[in-house]
Amino acid sequence: MNKISLFGQFHKLTAFFSLKPDRSFDLIPSIARGLEEGEYLVKPHMVHGKHVQVIDEEFLGGEHIKAEGYPELADVPGYIEVPVTDGLVTDVPGVGLVTTHGDCIAVFAYDPVKRAVGVAHAGWKGTMLGIAGELVKTMKEQYGSKAEDIYTYISPGIDKCHFEVREDVKKQFLDTAEWTGKYIKRKDEEHFLIDLKGVNKKYLELEGIEYIEINEDCTYCKEDLYWSYRRSKDMDRMLAYIRLDK
Ligand SMILES: [Zn+2]
Repeated sequence: MNKISLFGQFHKLTAFFSLKPDRSFDLIPSIARGLEEGEYLVKPHMVHGKHVQVIDEEFLGGEHIKAEGYPELADVPGYIEVPVTDGLVTDVPGVGLVTTHGDCIAVFAYDPVKRAVGVAHAGWKGTMLGIAGELVKTMKEQYGSKAEDIYTYISPGIDKCHFEVREDVKKQFLDTAEWTGKYIKRKDEEHFLIDLKGVNKKYLELEGIEYIEINEDCTYCKEDLYWSYRRSKDMDRMLAYIRLDK
């Protein structure tokens, strides 16, 4: 395994962003099959929105949808897929939250005081809609987390060198939040480059977050390390994973 480990200074916390050689198609089943009793792996059906789902004991004990992403894991009791959400938060130890990424950015959050974690899948739409802010807002509301206690990490993802759009997407950003104009540069007559990591960082700052670590790797540039949908229409993905250990 060659994963990027995050938040290494904390005890009883596992968080990583996988790399190309880790092969997420194999990694999710291997994590799921390794679950012990009372442990879970929760994976959303991502839709490029900004909804953040709270994973608590009630949710874990409730009815769940059929496993579609990995139908072969339908018989693994701790493996749960969640409909229509791009963000997950939990304060239950032993619950791994996982999202998948092929250029899209992962935003991780950890509050060591309230012992709560979260992860969000931020493609350009989720980034634009402010899912990074929604993630930490949900932690504040659910767990009483304070902004100054929350550690955040912005993962590798397509960067301002390669996230190229036309006028229509640029306009959507400006219509959603005018300040995003600061993160958009004209490339040529028809194209613009958007700094998605910068927009995510700004949404975190607007929620008062002070500790923000950004991984500067561009998934499009670094072909040996990352899958990139824009570069080569890759079907495999990197995993973003976070869990409070028991
Ligand atoms: Zn790049």
